[in-house]
Amino acid sequence: MIKVNNISHTFYLGKKGKETAVSVLKDISFSVNEGEIITITGKSGSGKSTLLNLVGGFLRPTEGEIWIEEKNITTLSEGDLADFRLENLSFIFQSFQLIPSMTAYENVELPLVLKGLDRDIRRKRVMTALERVGLQDHASYYPSELSGGQQQRISIARALVMESKIILADEPTGSLDSETEQEILAFIKELNEKENLTFLIITHDEEVAKIGHQRIHLHDGEIMKEGVSV
Ligand code: ATP
Ligand code: MG
Repeated sequence: MIKVNNISHTFYLGKKGKETAVSVLKDISFSVNEGEIITITGKSGSGKSTLLNLVGGFLRPTEGEIWIEEKNITTLSEGDLADFRLENLSFIFQSFQLIPSMTAYENVELPLVLKGLDRDIRRKRVMTALERVGLQDHASYYPSELSGGQQQRISIARALVMESKIILADEPTGSLDSETEQEILAFIKELNEKENLTFLIITHDEEVAKIGHQRIHLHDGEIMKEGVSV
């Protein structure tokens, strides 16, 4: 469950004492139930990634509160926030953000290494995640040896390996051709239906937005319309 309560965000640019305030999000509220997909659309610069960074705890809102799994993340210390993120949230990005010098296996394993888990446990969880995305046979491939869709599957495996219930995705199909986009969207839908995972998906594409049970459109940092897909 994600609850965003009346958040606003302002960036302050320039030298101290002479800052210019740029108001990027204004009084945003919504909530996402467990097992729900919410999609957030809006044109470039409307504040979509800023909103995802706030929900992911990478930025703190200037005003308002964000609750995730009954916890007010806005008041957590930096250390507690980092631990909370590791336990509860996973991320998928447009550019996949795979490490080129690591194999698919090593990329998926990385968050578990950071978490300090033992090699045997890591192996089991990495292989399960690779199987779930259908790429167990590509474990030793490097990112450059995989197609765009396969690279995004590996980055989804890297999110799944954490076993968190909430996945935040910024333009997950933004770098893919339309056929591969459909394949990844179908896969996200399947994960949502079969495993009750919650997704917050940022997209500039109205077609992709249709995957949302709930839809929000941002315009200049404000919610312009909300909808529920049927
Ligand atoms: P796109 O579709 O192009 O990714 P977006 O909707 O994700 O756009 P954001 O990245 O959230 O937009 O940016 C919203 C506004 O906030 C923009 O005007 C941007 O210049 C500004 N902004 C974003 N990050 C920062 C930052 N770290 N410091 C200052 N201003 C920022
Ligand atoms: Mg963005």
